[in-house]
Amino acid sequence: MLSRAVTENLRQLVRLDAGDPADVSHAFGGASGGRLFGLDAEALAALMAQAGEPAWRGRQLAEAMYRQRVADLNEITTLPKSLRQRLIDEGWQVGRPQIAQVFQSVDGTERYLVQCPGQDTETVEAVWMPEGDDGENGDGSDLDGNDLDLKDRAGKRWDRATICVSSQVGCAVNCQFCLTAKLGLQRNLTAGEIAGQVIAIFARHGVEVGRDRVNLVFMGMGEPFLNYDNFMGAARLLVEEVGLSPQRMTVSTSGIVPGIERFAQEPAEVRPKLAISLNAPNDAIRGEIMPINRKWPIEAVMDALRQVQLRPRERITFEYVLLGGVTDQPQHAAEVARLVRRTGLPVKVNLIAWNPGPGIAYSMPQPEAVEAFRVTLAGEGIPTYVRKPRGRDIFAACGQLKRTVEG
Ligand code: SF4
Repeated sequence: MLSRAVTENLRQLVRLDAGDPADVSHAFGGASGGRLFGLDAEALAALMAQAGEPAWRGRQLAEAMYRQRVADLNEITTLPKSLRQRLIDEGWQVGRPQIAQVFQSVDGTERYLVQCPGQDTETVEAVWMPEGDDGENGDGSDLDGNDLDLKDRAGKRWDRATICVSSQVGCAVNCQFCLTAKLGLQRNLTAGEIAGQVIAIFARHGVEVGRDRVNLVFMGMGEPFLNYDNFMGAARLLVEEVGLSPQRMTVSTSGIVPGIERFAQEPAEVRPKLAISLNAPNDAIRGEIMPINRKWPIEAVMDALRQVQLRPRERITFEYVLLGGVTDQPQHAAEVARLVRRTGLPVKVNLIAWNPGPGIAYSMPQPEAVEAFRVTLAGEGIPTYVRKPRGRDIFAACGQLKRTVEG
């Protein structure tokens, strides 16, 4: 039977189809407007048509918000001044999330507190990791010499980067090693609020889409598959309006089976790559550290994974957080190797040494244990990478995002 705390948290799990509608309070011509950021070109065109404007004005709005990253309606100079004024008078705004605070790590990682319009007291977290973390290259491959091509181009101090964004404020899943879990679920982010974190970071670092090697991971605060419609809405916006490749995006789930089954139906043109937060070699240990496993055990997750039609050379990533003495022992590595083999799926494993956080009673694994774990899996022919811990000093590393302001 699930403990009371677990039941409480499961009660917070939102229905998978409960996506928030775009924040459009009134159609054009009403007393007040809403936020435009988050609407795709088609919705913007419909809005313009409703205003008696040509539909291609919607495309101009989309271009300005998503490609040129304009955050103020007044500055969208491709629209006539009178139209801009009319939109403003009717209460419309771009409404893109803004970076409210930046914490910089000695290793170049930046952690952001991002404020969404209309949310004065609440922030979500996003992370910028220049030079990646040695795990995910974003296109099904891992690091290669091509990464050097971008070195020092345009005076940038980074060759490539990974951006990590949040999908919810807090999280209901309650993984025992995770700081975000301590917040519980506070609310779902909208598609615009998720994609807006990416655009705000692109604007800060002058990212050139299509030229810069930037990968995006939906691995910040929250369980994306418990906010499915908004997460996929954000992925679609980023592909269709911003121009990112879905193969440069990875979504990580704790193993929400109905979400994986839904994800398996998404067309390859917009579907990000998939990572499973595995973290344990068997149901007994996984159930202890990830109570969600009691609802959807490992085999159920693997069955759902088999429904995903992978692209050529695409692999599913298993994220494995090593907890000292709990999940990092030689027998655990052997068991994970057997588990991976049994799935018959093309898989790669990212090993992550657990990052300490206040109020969480686990220990970091010894570096020798991490290396031994890697060697065991690699010896079984499983592509295995140890991810560099990034931004530990600013609480930006995996499982450390909790609106920690002490930096
Ligand atoms: S690890 Fe991810 S799914 Fe688990 S509690 Fe933390 S944010 Fe939620």
